[in-house]
Amino acid sequence: MSHEEFAPRRDHDKDAQTPDTYPQESKRAVRTRMIHGVGRTRKWDYDHHVVPPMTSSATFRLDSAQRGAQGFVEFGHLSAEDEKHGPIYIYDRLDEPTRGMLEENLAVAEHAECAVCFASGMAAISAALGVLAPAGRHIVSHRTLYGCTYSLMTNWLPRFGIETSFINLIEPDAVLQHVRDDTRVVYFETPVNPDMQLIDIAAIRREVDVINRNRREDQRVWIVVDNTFASPYCQRPITLGADVVVESLTKAIGGFGTDLGGVVAGPKKLHDPLVLYRKDFGGSLSPKSAWPPLVYGLPSLGARMANYQKTAHHLARFLEGHPKVEYVRYPGLASFPQFELAKKQMTDEVGHFAPGSMIYFVLKQKSPNDNVGERLIDWIAANSYCITLAVSLGQIKTLIECPYTMTHAALPPDRKADDGLIPGGIRLSVGLEDWHDLIAELRTALESI
Ligand SMILES: *Cc1c(COP(=O)(O)O)cnc(C)c1O
Repeated sequence: MSHEEFAPRRDHDKDAQTPDTYPQESKRAVRTRMIHGVGRTRKWDYDHHVVPPMTSSATFRLDSAQRGAQGFVEFGHLSAEDEKHGPIYIYDRLDEPTRGMLEENLAVAEHAECAVCFASGMAAISAALGVLAPAGRHIVSHRTLYGCTYSLMTNWLPRFGIETSFINLIEPDAVLQHVRDDTRVVYFETPVNPDMQLIDIAAIRREVDVINRNRREDQRVWIVVDNTFASPYCQRPITLGADVVVESLTKAIGGFGTDLGGVVAGPKKLHDPLVLYRKDFGGSLSPKSAWPPLVYGLPSLGARMANYQKTAHHLARFLEGHPKVEYVRYPGLASFPQFELAKKQMTDEVGHFAPGSMIYFVLKQKSPNDNVGERLIDWIAANSYCITLAVSLGQIKTLIECPYTMTHAALPPDRKADDGLIPGGIRLSVGLEDWHDLIAELRTALESI
């Protein structure tokens, strides 16, 4: 094997085709493109690989001091890289090929101009907010959030003078009432983790457009959506009006539960500040952790999600019909309170309804202090074969947890109650098991408590 065969493309590869010049690629369905990737990438000589390589090089050999200097000057200037040649790799924390290829594919999946990967979902969320909300500015956020995001906004961002107002964005016009001159970000998840409420992205866009109409570019309000629960298979927030998507690669995109990761996807002008932020705060996704989502996660997302959804539908209908269940929240059920919005907002690339793999349900209590949810979870932890008590989601194994005391422990109790987050609420992340087996186990568990 020649050295060249395994070398990143160099600037002397003048005839290297860029993604834009690979003619058939953009005509293919995204599901196909997630398997074949950005076929001609300047990040690596792909011609001799069927599977993209897992690179493992903390530092890169430079041909001359001049080239090294050029690399440092150009880092964080996408235009220089784009127009003149591929990236000049210097050091893994700045940029490197495996992560770069994952970023190109994630940008395609999210319909974004660019994507920048971080060491975890939380590293991605803190970078997006760090870039978009300078010190002393204000964030408007939906009141129910992933616990660590809530903790970031209440424990750490205030140290930079960044204040967050937690409001109910289920009513989009609440934005207008709470936005201030110093507001820079409107932030939310949809579906909301864990209660599965939906926030109407297009409606929030209309509100924020009114606010931005009279603002200078550097004072505009950005819409940031955490797309972790839906995944780009079920929803592309940027096509619905969001400016920026953040998500955890640890969940449905990674899919196999092997590695942590996160991504910020958005307009090209955010690429440079995001990679410069990552360089200095240091939360770079390791190439060894970029490789599983690149090779296993994204290519199988379509097949997994199509299967998860069918199973989720069977499980949601079974739970809804069970006498011990108070209510079920799954966007695919006709009884879902925001069913019309779900059908409009959650679709796959070809427009089919794609309500996802997450279910939230609440059991009937026998008495006011009966923590029936915890009893069910404990029964499953002790007896179940194919349902696992564990946090995280979007994996090939079905996972169950109790958000009140686990993932959402950081939220104050009164806020949890506002959104039906009660001690007996249960979050189910549907996996790839045979759905008959999952229903049989849920039935036995419900009968046993
Ligand atoms: C898990 C999760 C995160 C955080 O991602 P990590 O990869 O665990 O850091 C953020 N948002 C939502 C909705 C999540 O479920």
